[in-house]
Amino acid sequence: MLSAKMTRDPADNAPSRIAAARRIVIKIGSALLVERDSGRLDAAWFDSLVSDIAALRRRGQEVLVVSSGAIALGRRHLGLRSGPLRLEESQAAAAAGQIRLAHAWQSALAGYEIPVAQILLTLGDTEERRRYLNARGTLETLLSLGAVPVINENDTVATEEIRYGDNDRLAARVAQMISADCLLLLSDVDGLYTADPARVPTAQRLAEVRAVTPDIEAMAGAAATEFGSGGMVTKVAAGRIALSAGCHMAIASGRVLHPVRALETGASCTWFIASANPARVRKQWIAGSLQPRGEIVVDDGAAAALAAGKSLLPAGVVRVSGDFRRGDAVLIRDLRDQVLAHGLSAYDSSDAARIVGLRSHAIEAVLGYRGREELVHRNDMAMVSPHG
Ligand code: GLU
Repeated sequence: MLSAKMTRDPADNAPSRIAAARRIVIKIGSALLVERDSGRLDAAWFDSLVSDIAALRRRGQEVLVVSSGAIALGRRHLGLRSGPLRLEESQAAAAAGQIRLAHAWQSALAGYEIPVAQILLTLGDTEERRRYLNARGTLETLLSLGAVPVINENDTVATEEIRYGDNDRLAARVAQMISADCLLLLSDVDGLYTADPARVPTAQRLAEVRAVTPDIEAMAGAAATEFGSGGMVTKVAAGRIALSAGCHMAIASGRVLHPVRALETGASCTWFIASANPARVRKQWIAGSLQPRGEIVVDDGAAAALAAGKSLLPAGVVRVSGDFRRGDAVLIRDLRDQVLAHGLSAYDSSDAARIVGLRSHAIEAVLGYRGREELVHRNDMAMVSPHG
């Protein structure tokens, strides 16, 4: 008879969830990075985290960092008092702090010869399709070049209405945007509890969450009132986004040296466990949720290439119809009118029509700019099975 241990899915334990991830987003809370009393970066802790990131990179894993701490670093630098800041004061603090934060990341990762790139995002960059595609394209390019993107909200320009205000949800949106398979929320809490552990002695940390139910939300709400911040509410909201994107997420304490290594060796935390993987979720979204705005008819050579998992190049296109923008959903049909796939177009319909039949190297001369080689990239395509 097989023991319970042997029948368990090998990917279904915490350490391997990090080890098996291809793309990991690590979100770091301000309270970890910045010492409360001095308002300075906690250098020893920071170095240990950066060494963990370098270890992930050495294993060939892609890492993105969502780093808080700009406001906390900047307020000291500008001599702002303690206590709540007005919006414009937080924005000024973020402006002064972000440059320091970026410098700290750059110099720490330079020690491992890892290039660093800063991305400052606002809500619109993750919610509005065209800006989303741009941000995604930039992040993908940075990752393919071996860089670690260091991301924060663009606090200096984001107003109250267009702000995330917390990096938990921002990190989950980033994870969703780039199809990450693992998101680590490092803060000063080691997980989600059934009740506030400071008040209720029987409160228990949940080891796993597989769906964000009203019960789970209620637990987050209870924690938030007690700790006086939106901390757990935004983390559970991040969990909802991550699960819907097929990304595993951990709420974990970063209050140890080498916090990622600690998690890999079984430190306590709460895992939100996704049932699908990001690629599958994305394809379902492309095929199921988006209204096609146009059609692309392809020749038999292109149809065969698509069936073999390739991208759609303009050379294989015979006709484009409809009025669509870059990033909109389109149907791809063969010469016999069969729908082959749903996809996201890399070009507006007017430009797509101008490059029909062209080899990729000829695109620039016709359009006057250097766009993508593919009209529909294979990652942006969901094939339709001929049998239904
Ligand atoms: N973007 C803020 C900062 O860098 C942090 C937001 C958060 O703590 O979640 O200071």
